[in-house]
Formats: sequence, structure tokens, C-alpha cells
Amino acid sequence: LLYNQVQDLKGTIRVFCRVRPFLQGQSNGQSTVDYIGENGNIMIVNPQKQGKDARRVFTFDKVFGTNVTQEQIYADTQPLIRSVLDGYNVCIFAYGQTGSGKTYTMSGPDLTTEETWGVNYRALRDLFRISKARMDVIEYEVGVQMIEIYNEQVRDLLVIHGNIRNNSQLNGLNVPDASLVPVKCTKDVLDLMKIGQRNRAVGATALNERSSRSHSILTIHVRGKELVSGSTLKGCLHLVDLAGSERVDKSEAVGERLKEAQHINRSLSALGDVISALAQNSSHVPYRNSKLTQVLQDSLGGHAKTLMFVHINPEVNSIGETISTLKFAERVA
Ligand code: ADP
Ligand code: MG
Repeated sequence: LLYNQVQDLKGTIRVFCRVRPFLQGQSNGQSTVDYIGENGNIMIVNPQKQGKDARRVFTFDKVFGTNVTQEQIYADTQPLIRSVLDGYNVCIFAYGQTGSGKTYTMSGPDLTTEETWGVNYRALRDLFRISKARMDVIEYEVGVQMIEIYNEQVRDLLVIHGNIRNNSQLNGLNVPDASLVPVKCTKDVLDLMKIGQRNRAVGATALNERSSRSHSILTIHVRGKELVSGSTLKGCLHLVDLAGSERVDKSEAVGERLKEAQHINRSLSALGDVISALAQNSSHVPYRNSKLTQVLQDSLGGHAKTLMFVHINPEVNSIGETISTLKFAERVA
């Protein structure tokens, strides 16, 4: 019954665009964003081109300008969180070149100030808040997994002292080998995320900041039991901070770096292919082409809901990446 409560038939794939502000100390304030209109329009101006070719409008479900707060961003995300507790699977992605604000949107700049908390923490806070409010009707159990995908390999980020903690009875986990840790409150999850971030840093080489070369996925599994009828429901929320989408110059990248870049390109295009196949109701959805889409398969398509935040950096020297990001986003919108 709960499953049908949120019958939101306006389509299950949303694309939001967010423009990062200029950072302190960045001198040239010239922006490639000409204007942000109503109805999800954004006009990009390419200073390298003249006349008609210099401007182009892209259209998304929403566009957020540089002065939009974390709270406002979350306000438009919140309905999805409720649907997780109603038994839906939800994926929220952050896409964009390195430095465009993906981690800012998902996690925020710093854990200690609630005001700048990103989508992750706000979503968790709401999950617990709503589940508590429903306590008399449904009993919920919540468990967390945190993994990263690097060069098509899955790595468990919640391993502590080599121990995989996964004694759950949950069937159908996409990554059954990764730790699944039961949690009771937001603080439990915050503690886990700190462990995850530490584990992630350990794997990083000195030269390459690992976080921009791997996809990180925080998954919240929810199981609910209706107290009167005894019927159960299951939902999950995947919060995905994707690897940087920048194209790597093939003439410059060699060895490991080139391999990383190829894996990232391939998996981001596989993701784009899957979402655009879903958006077009295509009969064949190519989930098998990357680890990322395999792991998320049962949360993309079907009854699942998807939200993609695409991030752009308004600096003039990012124009090439900005346009390719917006083209990617347009393909999946
Ligand atoms: P990414 O994860 O895409 O590499 P980050 O989220 O780390 O990018 O953002 C790069 C820098 O820009 C960080 O210093 C971050 O705090 C800052 N930043 C990003 N988005 C915003 C924003 N909306 N408002 C203020 N600062 C931001
Ligand atoms: Mg980041």
C-alpha cells in the first residue's frame, strides 16, 4: 500500500544543474554563465567564439545559481528521501569536472557546521526523523554500506582492522561482500563516514588525489515492517560522488594515469548510456558495461528514482569541460 502512496508519474529521472561560485582569491571574475532563466534554462557564453555560436541555452529540471544555499538545494531533493522509506530505490549522483563542487553538494565543505551540510547528511537526518515519526505504524531497520569503485574494482570503505561487518539478513544486496553496518541515528552514520573517508585516503597515492579518480557510493538500506499487517518493505538510497568527468589529454597521460582516465571515461559514458536508455524507455538498457552501472542496476530504472546533479565551474578556462558536462546532462535529461 505504501508503495503506491507516492505515485509521482512525472518521470523518474531528474537533472539539476548547479553553478559553483568563484572562489576567494580567484582573480578573473568573468563567468561563462550568461544568465539563468526560469524553467530550468541556463545560457552559456563561450568567450572563444564569436556571434551566434558563442551562446547556447541548455534546459534542465532546475538550475541553481551561485548564491543558492545547501538548504535550498536539499529542499528539492527531500521528496526522494521520503520515497526511500516508502520502499523505493533512489540514486542521487554528483557529476562534473574536478573542482566543480560535487563533494560540496553531497557532503559539504566540512562536517562540523550543520548549516553547510550537504545532501548526504540532510538526507540521513530526514530518514531518521521520518522513520521515528512513523514508529507506531512501521518499524524500520537501517544499514549502511560505503564503497568506492576505482579502475573497475570495488573497494569496501567500512572495513575496520580487516574485518568485514556484514551479518545482515538482507537479501539481494548489490555488493554482498562489502560491510553493511546497522545504524540507529545520524551520528552513527557520521562516524562511519569518517571511517570511510579515512580508508579512502589510505588508498591514495601521493601524486593523485584518489577521490577525484574514483566513484564513491554511500548506500543506505532501509527495511520496514508494518506493525499491524506484518508486511514488509525494502528501499535503498545510493548517494554517489562520481569521479571527475574531465577529459584527460591522451598525449600527456601515461601509465597508471592513462588507465585511470580510460576507466573513468568508460564508466561515465556507460552511466550516461544507461540513464538515457531509461529516459527514452528503450527496451535494452546496457547495465553490464561498467562496474558502476552493475552495482546500481536495481536502483536505476523500474520503480527506482534518479536525481543527477551536474556541476559546472564558471571560470573561462573551464569552458570546454562546462560544455561537455552540459551536453552529457542534456543527453540524460
Ligand atoms: P569536486 O568534488 O567536484 O572536485 P569540491 O566540492 O571539492 O569539487 O569543490 C571545489 C572547491 O570549491 C572546494 O573548496 C569547495 O569548498 C568549493 N565549492 C564548491 N561548491 C561550492 C559552493 N556551492 N559554494 C561555495 N564553495 C563551493
Ligand atoms: Mg570531490
